[in-house]
Amino acid sequence: MEHSEILHRCFRCGYCKLPSSYADLNCPSYLNFRFETYSPGGRMWLLRAWLDGEIKTSPRFAEILYSCATCANCVEQCVFPKFKDDILNAFIAGREELVATGAVPPAVRDYFKSIHLYGNPYKMPEADRGKWADGLGLEPYSRHEYLFYVGCVGSFDERGQRMARSVAGLLKNMGISFGILGAEEFCDGNDVKAMGEMGLFDHIAQKNIRKYQDLGVQKIVTLSPHAYHAFRNEYPELGGNFDVCHYSQLLAPLIKKARFKKSESPIRVTLHDPCYLGRHNKEYRAPRKILAAVPGVQLKEMDRAEKDALCCGGGGGNLFTEMLGGGPDSPARVRAREAAATGAQVLAVACPGCSRMLDDAVKAEALQDDLEVMDLAEFVNRRLAVD
Ligand code: SF4
Ligand code: SF4
Repeated sequence: MEHSEILHRCFRCGYCKLPSSYADLNCPSYLNFRFETYSPGGRMWLLRAWLDGEIKTSPRFAEILYSCATCANCVEQCVFPKFKDDILNAFIAGREELVATGAVPPAVRDYFKSIHLYGNPYKMPEADRGKWADGLGLEPYSRHEYLFYVGCVGSFDERGQRMARSVAGLLKNMGISFGILGAEEFCDGNDVKAMGEMGLFDHIAQKNIRKYQDLGVQKIVTLSPHAYHAFRNEYPELGGNFDVCHYSQLLAPLIKKARFKKSESPIRVTLHDPCYLGRHNKEYRAPRKILAAVPGVQLKEMDRAEKDALCCGGGGGNLFTEMLGGGPDSPARVRAREAAATGAQVLAVACPGCSRMLDDAVKAEALQDDLEVMDLAEFVNRRLAVD
């Protein structure tokens, strides 16, 4: 297994399951299950025992490996600089081994099957991919400055579609030249790779790279930090070199040109940093810059913010496989309570997956009358002046 050489170096000090303040549990799977084997250090030792033949492959072992939300808190917090960068890669390599032997949990198998058969995890016809844009008058991509890539959640999930429409509206409002692929778009494959199906990921990435190159795409703006991560960090080694940004990064320097309503009352907003924008790609400023430009916004940071943000639990395919479940100790519900504790009226998000996870969690916590989950673009649009 790739990266197996780092496993014996972990001595289970446990710092990787905490934020840098050590104040709380910050590994979503450990937070939820509270057994050491679900923590990053425990998972390292579990993998080591498995590779040494001390434990056998079993459904339970597979469940533990797939309960990791690939949030990279362990990569951020591990005290050993020599191997910390490869901790998550080792967990993904473990999944790769399970994929190779067909020993993945049923929900994971179902996810891969859906991507194979339908091209998306929602089992929806690919012809419906562009329906989110109906009535918006958006142009099909044709030598525009940017390709606006929406992804599976933005195309098929009702919350994701709302977010895609908000972002598209704001890009238009800011005068950005962009086109969409609609039914011609395809899954970015980020979660497929995080779940260890490297062959399928390569197939998806090559297909997308060929398509973008044929269309002459040079710049891509993504709705989701997951697609941003894949295009920016995974596609180049397969020959796909595009100038990629997340929509918050494109809008942050332009937002000062926006005309906002003058009469809006002050509003308390807290921000959830998505793992694939924040810890994976170190972008913490762009979403904050957007919020700071909106008149009346009082930003109330959660105790765990930026590199210490608690993951919503939806990464690594968990949005679909639900390996973490949705009980009171699920990361999304803990995060919803943390957001509410700031006294914020709005929980701003910048990822369609986080939006789905946290919206459901706010409802499960019966907080929806006090705390509204809103995408950044949705929030900005609501406070723009109407001509
Ligand atoms: S902080 Fe690093 S060494 Fe300590 S338990 Fe976590 S992975 Fe192992
Ligand atoms: S990536 Fe996140 S969920 Fe996975 S082991 Fe590390 S801290 Fe836990």
